[in-house]
Amino acid sequence: MTPRTRLRIGATLAAVALAATACGGSSDGDDLGSDDKKPTFASDTTMGKIQAKGTMTVGTKFDQPLYGEKTLSGDVEGFDVEIARLIADELGVKVNFVEAVSKNREPFIQNGNVDIVVATYTINDKRKKIVDFAGPYYQTGQSLMVRKDDSAINSKDDLAGKKVCSVEGSTPAERIKTEAPKALVTLFDAYGKCATALENKQVDAVTTDEAILLGLVSKKPDAYKVVGETFSEEPYGIGLKKGDQAFRDFLNDFVEKIYEDGRWKKALEKTVGKVQDSLPEPPAVDRYTSA
Ligand code: GLU
Repeated sequence: MTPRTRLRIGATLAAVALAATACGGSSDGDDLGSDDKKPTFASDTTMGKIQAKGTMTVGTKFDQPLYGEKTLSGDVEGFDVEIARLIADELGVKVNFVEAVSKNREPFIQNGNVDIVVATYTINDKRKKIVDFAGPYYQTGQSLMVRKDDSAINSKDDLAGKKVCSVEGSTPAERIKTEAPKALVTLFDAYGKCATALENKQVDAVTTDEAILLGLVSKKPDAYKVVGETFSEEPYGIGLKKGDQAFRDFLNDFVEKIYEDGRWKKALEKTVGKVQDSLPEPPAVDRYTSA
């Protein structure tokens, strides 16, 4: 079974789970618009504290087209950004985006620099030891990007002796060590720098989530291409402080709510859908027990 087949099966299971939750209904109605009356939360909950501040601070990426990108005009846009805006809207607060590169995500959450991280953030057991995750709200897998005119690298099996770029503190930077042990890995702090290094021929390939790579290709389709099958599963979660069960429940309920009422799909169409014809199904929310 190829990783893509696995992803498709995962998506089907998610759709079944989604149908099951849809029958359960949501706790506070099916309101879609941002003018609706917002629920008020107890002042000792994180939701109540964010409401009292009037602003939710969100760590996101600033150099990942389609997911989290700060444009020249200073706006931040992308699917992750849309998800964060929907959460802020649900709480009736403004949102303040700060750049969180991959290695900063756990410390930003732990130190309280941000209320949440929505930043192509893979849920995994190692990270769950120090932070918690709501979701997943999206699923992709690790892949490879090379220069458009490169015919020598067609998959991770062609990387022996090649320079491969990834990002510190990311899951793909770890996995490439075992998937392509003879590759020469270079690490930067953000994927935009890897993309520039690829274009300048300082490296031969970039490895990270296919979703991120397709976003980079969408900006420069004559410079880059994605090659090979995906070789991991990267379910994206909303990172929050470990042990904040009430906030995690709120976020998980909210993810299911936007699956049901169409806002998740609209956010995806508005961002990733601008350049990709086939969009994934929403993955089932995982209400794991926090250790
Ligand atoms: N999803 C992977 C991770 O969370 C790679 C993408 C990223 O670094 O943001 O590590």
